[in-house]
Amino acid sequence: MSRAENTRRRLVVGNWKMYGSRAFNAELLSAIQARWQGVHQAEVAVCPPFAYLQQAAELLAKSNIVLGAQSLSEYEEGAFTGEVSARMLADWQCRYVIVGHNERRRLQGETDQRVAKKFIAARDADLIPVLCVGESEQDRDSGKALDTIGRQLSTVIDAAGLESFRRAVVAYEPVWAVGTGKTATPEQAQEVHSFIRAQLGALGQSTRVLYGGSVKPDNAEQLFAKADIDGALLGGASLKAEDFIAICQAAD
Ligand code: PEP
Repeated sequence: MSRAENTRRRLVVGNWKMYGSRAFNAELLSAIQARWQGVHQAEVAVCPPFAYLQQAAELLAKSNIVLGAQSLSEYEEGAFTGEVSARMLADWQCRYVIVGHNERRRLQGETDQRVAKKFIAARDADLIPVLCVGESEQDRDSGKALDTIGRQLSTVIDAAGLESFRRAVVAYEPVWAVGTGKTATPEQAQEVHSFIRAQLGALGQSTRVLYGGSVKPDNAEQLFAKADIDGALLGGASLKAEDFIAICQAAD
């Protein structure tokens, strides 16, 4: 199926991680908005830290840039100190939420099962989960990249059902490429994206699959030229208005 025939609107998501301040955010969002006006083929989302969601929601209220969050609790509500629920994110006008980012899997001990519960919590609150999957350097070097990605994805498919992927987004983020300056080659990324689509069966051709891992203005175009890459999840580049917009333009 060609891109023109499918329903996969290109998407660029900026993950600000734990960076920002009220002043920095205001400047960044104003610079991005000034360069991303009118109607575009690609959709653009930013995911600030929880503390700044309300500020970002207010600043983006009249723009065509949508809001996302970086994580969520798997629970609806309760005595879970420091957690934020899917309903609260929806209340803050979030459209997307990143689920299973490798920094949460590695640093916060999020298991495949817990990631699946978070995916379901997001779906049930009408948020669009951006499910991150990706192999470690060791997995890749030992030829186990697809095994790891297959396991991460099938745990969510088994728990949430394939039908949930009608609205969800998958992001392929090789752990060795996130924040390291190393990028998967377009061919490596394409191979994994095509594998992810095959895992999604009948929905494989309509689910958006993003690539993430040191995407920069000078490699974005080659990545987006691959048939199965529908956009990017960005870390570092999302904090520089020029770079962020250049990548959004490459996706557009
Ligand atoms: C990320 O945090 O999801 C990411 C892709 O980071 P970077 O672009 O900095 O590699």
